[in-house]
Parts: sequence; C-alpha cells; structure tokens
Amino acid sequence: MSAQVEKKGYEIGQAEIDKVIAAVDAIKDGPRVLQLYMDICAKCGTCAEQCHVSLGDPHKRTNPALRSDRIRRLFKKDMSMVRKVASMLAGMDSRNLLDKDAVEEWVRDFYECSGCRRCAKFCPMGIDNSVITRKGRAILHSLGMTPDKLVTTQVVSDQTGNDEGFSRPAFMDVIGFLEEELEEQHGVPIKIPVGKVGADVLYVGASADFVSSPDTVMGYAAFFHAAGIDWTMSHAACDAANMGLFSGDDPHMKAKNKVLHDAAMRLKVKRLVIGECGHAYRVAKFIGGTNYWGKDIPYEITSIFYLGVDALRKGLLKLDPSRNPDPVTYHDPCNFGRSADIMEEPRELIRACVSDFREMTPNREKNWCCGGGGGLANFDSTEGVKKRDTTFEEYRMKIAGKKKLEQIRATGAGYVAAPCANCKRQIRQLMEYHKTGVEVGGVFDLLNRAIVFDKSSGSQRAVSLAKSGAAAQPETDLTGAEPATATPSVSARVSLVQVNLERADLPDTSLAEDAVTEPELKGVGLCTVHSPQGEWAFDYALSLARRNKVRLNIYQFFESPYTFQRDMVYIDAKKTKIVPVTPELLAEKDKELRFWYDERLEGYVNVGFRFCEGNDDWELTKCFKRGDYDVLVIGYEKRGGGFGATTTLEKFARSFRGAVVLVGPDDPHSFYVNKKAEGMLDRLNIPKDRWQLVDGVG
Ligand code: SF4
Ligand code: SF4
Repeated sequence: MSAQVEKKGYEIGQAEIDKVIAAVDAIKDGPRVLQLYMDICAKCGTCAEQCHVSLGDPHKRTNPALRSDRIRRLFKKDMSMVRKVASMLAGMDSRNLLDKDAVEEWVRDFYECSGCRRCAKFCPMGIDNSVITRKGRAILHSLGMTPDKLVTTQVVSDQTGNDEGFSRPAFMDVIGFLEEELEEQHGVPIKIPVGKVGADVLYVGASADFVSSPDTVMGYAAFFHAAGIDWTMSHAACDAANMGLFSGDDPHMKAKNKVLHDAAMRLKVKRLVIGECGHAYRVAKFIGGTNYWGKDIPYEITSIFYLGVDALRKGLLKLDPSRNPDPVTYHDPCNFGRSADIMEEPRELIRACVSDFREMTPNREKNWCCGGGGGLANFDSTEGVKKRDTTFEEYRMKIAGKKKLEQIRATGAGYVAAPCANCKRQIRQLMEYHKTGVEVGGVFDLLNRAIVFDKSSGSQRAVSLAKSGAAAQPETDLTGAEPATATPSVSARVSLVQVNLERADLPDTSLAEDAVTEPELKGVGLCTVHSPQGEWAFDYALSLARRNKVRLNIYQFFESPYTFQRDMVYIDAKKTKIVPVTPELLAEKDKELRFWYDERLEGYVNVGFRFCEGNDDWELTKCFKRGDYDVLVIGYEKRGGGFGATTTLEKFARSFRGAVVLVGPDDPHSFYVNKKAEGMLDRLNIPKDRWQLVDGVG
C-alpha cells in the first residue's frame, strides 16, 4: 500500500521535438475532419470575436486560429511538394517552427483554451478549434507534459476508481450521512441503494458532487424516490467524470468509461443514467457507449435530465416553487449545450421548481463558457506549466471567467444553477472571488428544496417504472469488499482514538476557581490547525472545557483542517507526493496529533482525539449530531481563507448547524461567532466587547 506518485517537471530535448513533429505529421493518417481543419482556415478573425479567452485577454496567443496555427504550420510544412515550396517561401522551415521554448508554449497555450466549442458555432468554415486543442494536448500527454493536477487526478482515479479517491468505506459513510440528511429534511426515509443487482437504473454522477455539492446528490435521491424509480448506485462506478477527455489521454478515457459499462453489465440494469455533469454525459453517451462497447449493449445510456422531465410531465413530482423564492438563472454547460443538445430539459425542471427564472444572454448553444472548461476548473496554481505568467486561478477569475461574470451579474439572480461539477467549481470561485454573494448549485439542488412528500403515505408511491424480473442481490464489489448490506463505517478504518479517560477521582485543579457548579455545555469541539491562531483556539477551547467540566474533542484532518481530505493525500508541504490513506499512516498521524497536544493539555484528561477522513463538513456535522460537542472552536488563520473543497471558513461557520467560534485572526482575544454561538455568548464565556458576528466577513 505504499504506491506513491511523484510529479516530475518535464525536460525537452531534440527527441521530444522530433516526437512532436512526427505526431503532427501523423495527422495525415488520422480523422479526415482534423485534416480538413489543417487546410481551410480563412483567417477571418470571427473565432477571436466569439472566444471568451480571446475577448478576456486580446492577445496573439489567445486568438483561437493563431493558437491552432501552432499545429497547422507544422503540419503544412511537408504535406506536399507544392506546400513545401510555399512553406519555404513563407519562411516556414520546420527547423524554425519548433524548439524547446515553442514546446513549452504549447503547454501554456493549449491549456488556456477551455475546449468549449463556441468558436465552432460561429466559424464560417465550420472549424472546431477545440479539436485541434485536444490534439495538441494529446501530443503533450505522450511526452509527459500534462499539467500536474490532471496527472494526479488520473492516477487517483486509476487507483481508486474515482477522481476524489473515495474508498468503499468512505463512500458508504457518505451515503449513510446523506440518507440521514434526507430523512431530516423531508420527514420520510429515503434510501440510496448501492450495488443492487437488477435495478432499472444505475445512476452515476461526478464524484466531486459528493464532496462539494451533496445537495445535488440528495436531489437525485429525492427525485428517484418521488418518481418511484428502481435505482442503484455502485461504489465501483461512482464517478462518471473523465479527465482523459481533457488531457487527451485516450486509454485513460476509455478505461474510466469501461468501469461504468462493466458496472451496468454486472448489475444488469436497463439504463445507465448520467448525472448533471456535461462532459461525463458526453463521454459516456457519445464517445464511449456504442462506439466502444458495441451496438448491442443491453442497456440505454441517458441523462438524469430526460428522466426528470419525463417524471415531471407524468405528474409524478409534487413541487412547490415558493420554496425557491430567489431569482434563479441557468448556466448551459458547453458539453450539454454545444455537444449533447440538452438545453430545454434543465429549464423545464427549473421552471417547475422556482418562483423567478431568468435567462442569461446569450444562452443555450451560444452561451459563454464558465471559463473552467477543458479541465481548467481544477487548476489553481501554475500546475507545473512553464511559461505561465499567472496562476490558473487568476487566469480563470480575471480572464477566462470575465464573460460569465458579466452575464450572471446582468440577470440579477441570487442563484446560478450550473449542472456540471467543473462549472460549479469555476462559477462558485468566480462568485466568491468577485464577492457577488450569488449562490451556485445544481438543478437537482433546487428540486430537492422544492419537492413535497406526503409524509402520511410512508415510502415510495411506486416500486418500479419498468419492472425487472431479476431479484435484488447485493453487488460484488470489484475490490472484493463486503457487499453493500455490510456497510463498514469509515470510523472503523479511521484511527479513531477516543481517549476516554474521564476519571472522576482526578481533580481538575488548574482553573478550579473558575469552575461553575452545573455544566452548561455538553462538550467542546476543536478543529485543529498548527498555527498561532490554532494555538489560541486550543487555549480557548481548553479553558472552556475546563470551566464547564466537559469533554474536549479534538478533530484533525489530513494536510490541514482547512483542506478537503480524501483517501489519497499529500504528505509534503509542497503537495507533490500523494499516497493512499492506510491504517499505518492513520496510526502515525494519530500519534503525532496526540503528542502535539500531550503537554499542552496540562493534565486535563477529559479529552478525545479523532483523526478524520472524508468531507470536513460532514465529519464535523456527524459528530455534532451525535452530541460530541455543542460548540466548535476553530483557529481563524486569515480572512477569506478556504475550508473544505469549495468554501471559505466564514461561509462554513455561517452555514454550520451548531455554534462556531473562530479565534483570531489578529488577536488571541478576538472572537468571530456565528448566529448559533451569538445566542450563547455567556455560556461561551466571551466578553461583550471581544466578539463580532462572522456574517459580515469573508
Ligand atoms: S472563424 Fe474559422 S475560418 Fe475564421 S479565423 Fe477562426 S477558425 Fe479560421
Ligand atoms: S474552444 Fe472555446 S476557449 Fe477554445 S478557442 Fe474556441 S471559443 Fe476559445
């Protein structure tokens, strides 16, 4: 279990340059359409006027046609004697066309195009520059020059079956959590079946939704339940996202797609239903599907949107639009609007779920890309791409996302429905970066809020839309793990060390004079971070626990409490080494955690330690719901700093269901509290002039 991925910088020598030239020459033996694109550009400039990147940063290198010329000029140099002469006359000697610098610029430039295909909609010659971009990326991939983040994600996916690196226990833990949340929200038990052989539908979305958009996943479950559809998920196939589309790595794309096919066959389903994610649907339906697995695959590949609209039209969904009162707009993901012709179905669903729907302009197939397409939404730093003058985050926020920002602002909407994990990440960051206050989520998040269940009628109203004769049996997981019925909790793997040393005979003397007679709190939670603010938070949490004579529960996540964790984690500060989470690693980290606090506890023994994996928010919510603590204390390192995969610490504090106290960021005696904590300031022992609400911050 010590597999390790080390990302390397790339070296470019003559061998690499020759390889690029040979790969470009090979286009003459490849798809006819690409050969045509090499030939027919009229240099009319239309594409530059329709490309969000080119408009965001008008520059030679961002011009779609000129970017494509990087390959086109190489290709043309030796295609025919006539062209060769023409090329030479034009000064296009191959020796002058490609050198080390030029190859490095390829990486930069082909990873600035988001592959959105908007230029193709307007090009009078029908040229799709995204196809040329992908060719460029594929050549770079063959040389090992794919940006770090894509490489890492593909490796994680190859090792675990999903881009987020969920192990089966972690996945099942999330499912259990979502089921609890669903019942709490809707008042009826809503199950999320996993590994059910013979179900009508195998549903697969993007694994990123489990991390950053759990409301979307809950929306799917509520929908299937209300529509009476016999469905299942599969841990082995819990991710339809496919980075191979973006990196140009066809073997990866095909292998990832085959996981879905294999699960559909193994579970004997009638339909493979892909979630809101646009590129996932494009790969499964049009690139994979019958193209890979043959014309007679015994199941249909379709989108959740078609099922949703079908159920809506059949009157199977009772929806209350007044539950979504804010103005809502819809972002057409490029892979739905321009590549899959799914445009009206999401709108029909949204209109049924909200009170005020507003269109962006332009929309549908002419919609502007969010700026994070082509995999770019996942890039934050320079991702190992040489010659970049900004980080990818700055590029996405200031250049590639500029058009989308203008469009959203013009609608006046308070919520953007962005049905695609990549679009959601990009637009969420865009809204936060530019402080718009606009919420971003999926279409089925809205459905989850609007759907009304008849609590008196008990469970599902129908058993199955298309009954299958096969009896439901647990799926045999590819990993050989126990079937779904024997759900191992993540806590079984987690090195959970509840150091339950409550010993009434040990007097707590250090702050005895402050102790109150009756405990006013049940427990204090501390989310750790090793920084000055983390130490201030610890001091405050410990004094609070002592004062109230209650348990102090200390939670630690991998890397940092403010970074999303998964089953593959970085173990170095520079985030270059990623390793699987093993019991040995957990034990080691657990030991580190306890050693760190051992002396600082100054003899206080009513302390529990928990090393958590999985989503920070869920882990902390679960412990809160279990009654482990009623106030959560966190070191406030900096304003606007991240917490979890997609949110800021302030936003987390505001939305958390229990009381949260942030200590810092500039002073150990300054406290930022959420509304829940505001109602218990006396019990929290926070002086009147030392606190403020976290509402106006971040
Ligand atoms: S719009 Fe088409 S023909 Fe015109 S410059 Fe762009 S790619 Fe070439
Ligand atoms: S595919 Fe999109 S980002 Fe790339 S050149 Fe065309 S319009 Fe620009």
